[in-house]
Amino acid sequence: MSKSSSDNPGKRRVRTRLAHAGRDPARYHGFVNMPVYRGSTVLYPDVAAIREKKLEYTYGRRGTPTIRALEDAVTELEGGELTVLTPSGLNAIACALLTLVAAGDHILVTDSTYQPTRKICDNLLSRLGVETTFYNPLVGNEIADLVRDNTRLVYVESPGSQTFEMQDLPAIAEVARSRGLPVIADNTWATPLYCNPLALGADMVINAGTKYFGGHADANLGSVTTGARLADQLKLTHGDMGICPGPEDVFLCLRGLRTMAVRLEQHRLSALEMARWLDAQPEVARVLHPGLESDPGHALWQRDFTGSSGLFSVILKPASDEAIAAMLDGLELFGMGFSWGSYESLVIPFDPSSYRTATVWQSEGPALRFHIGLEDVEDLKADLGEGFKRLTAAR
Ligand SMILES: *Cc1c(COP(=O)(O)O)cnc(C)c1O
Repeated sequence: MSKSSSDNPGKRRVRTRLAHAGRDPARYHGFVNMPVYRGSTVLYPDVAAIREKKLEYTYGRRGTPTIRALEDAVTELEGGELTVLTPSGLNAIACALLTLVAAGDHILVTDSTYQPTRKICDNLLSRLGVETTFYNPLVGNEIADLVRDNTRLVYVESPGSQTFEMQDLPAIAEVARSRGLPVIADNTWATPLYCNPLALGADMVINAGTKYFGGHADANLGSVTTGARLADQLKLTHGDMGICPGPEDVFLCLRGLRTMAVRLEQHRLSALEMARWLDAQPEVARVLHPGLESDPGHALWQRDFTGSSGLFSVILKPASDEAIAAMLDGLELFGMGFSWGSYESLVIPFDPSSYRTATVWQSEGPALRFHIGLEDVEDLKADLGEGFKRLTAAR
């Protein structure tokens, strides 16, 4: 946990910051990259140092130079005051929520949120006496109607997991500010490269570093970044829960940041091309991708974001479970698996009607979520083209 160390990072453009944030080669014998610090015990030079508590590092659980470097980099990229790291994105969400709630409180969470976030609310928070209202992601400033005397925070995720609804964060944040409520935003889809929720009115930002920070499906990590107002509270909760990420995962995410801009640029272009191609296939009813002009959330996306990433969904025309299985089981380049953000393409079938509570999910047919990796798009089209043939044959 540390404040951004750069003198005036705001002056530099984001690609430059990705290459330089959280680095200080002069302190590490000139080596370009921060070493992987492992360890629990930190030795104090003398009794006075123990009494004065002046050491920068006091105990492995409380931070290492490797952890601090990534914290600094994320703080700088998100434009916050303080970042804490967690062993997973989900742990970052739990840490942010637990920082702000107490028994008897009520919170507002978007119905389009990442499903495990919903589980934190329904299980852990509910058991602690915190009540959640899931709200329509398209609510905008009508969120005011849902605020109660004991409401303590508003949670947004834009675009929504799986279904990609865009939320009007500035409108929601304005209402929240007028009621003194902090807003937490999950920024995993956009990364700080394509959206800065703090600048749009959010008070805490979540990133699942597991996805694009790491970018190679070989690390688990999360971050919470906040402005000055909630920094002490966040630090306290993070410390009390003894949260410390694995050193190797921190290193891999720090390394991943250096190439994130070039990777994301390719994910962005390839995903847009694949989304347009899918939109033109006769088996497809609709594509859910806010970067497409035809998407209902496109105007909000254009106003608040500077790019789109590799993840989007498709609604197919009606097809049997067997036909979907025939299509997906035979794919050679698209793996089936959760998580995303790595260099490889993925597809997963999903059904939002099974978990939504504030809104009724209506769709023409089965839904598929795609992550477009760094493969050549012509090969991806050929693989999916064969898949659509199997789908049609099995229909
Ligand atoms: C994956 C994901 C998370 C959780 O990250 P983990 O590191 O897998 O725990 C949180 N939010 C969103 C939007 C995600 O896609």
